[in-house]
Amino acid sequence: MERVALFPGSFDPFTLGHQAIVEQGLRIFDRIVIGVGANLEKGGLLMPENRMRLIRDIFQGEERVEVTSYEGLTGDYCRRIGVRFMLRGMRNTVDYEYERGVMLINQQLYPEITTVLLFTPPQYVAVSSSVIRELTAFGGDSRSLMPNNIDIKEYL
Ligand code: ADP
Repeated sequence: MERVALFPGSFDPFTLGHQAIVEQGLRIFDRIVIGVGANLEKGGLLMPENRMRLIRDIFQGEERVEVTSYEGLTGDYCRRIGVRFMLRGMRNTVDYEYERGVMLINQQLYPEITTVLLFTPPQYVAVSSSVIRELTAFGGDSRSLMPNNIDIKEYL
């Protein structure tokens, strides 16, 4: 049976760190669905459709990666699309504590879904969507933090 994981997140925007998690995930899973969670968004940088366009541009030609968006609870979305693995990334102990908390709740509510937490490669530990949002707000150049040196201005 095909092994498919959902990689859920805000991805506002998708960064080199996220890309590293997808690339490692592709060694474990046959396919990865990147799910842009579009709810509870106040004052994001990119519109959900532009977040998706950016991610699709990064993975164009990679048939094992699909990009979608969803509203509501991530576990419910997994059930709706029949996915039994949730992929997440972890940079540090703060991420670890947060991800563990979410995982424990999901384990209770969706016992058939397994969370797979992968470590961020060291060179991307300091990369975050919030740093890119801040750089963008103050006119900085974030291209070196983005996959393929993407210029975020093309997605604003
Ligand atoms: P969320 O709002 O759901 O946390 P994010 O887009 O911020 O969404 O993150 C999605 C996933 O990617 C989370 O598991 C997060 O820990 C992970 N992540 C964020 N930044 C990085 C990074 N630099 N390297 C690896 N994983 C990361």
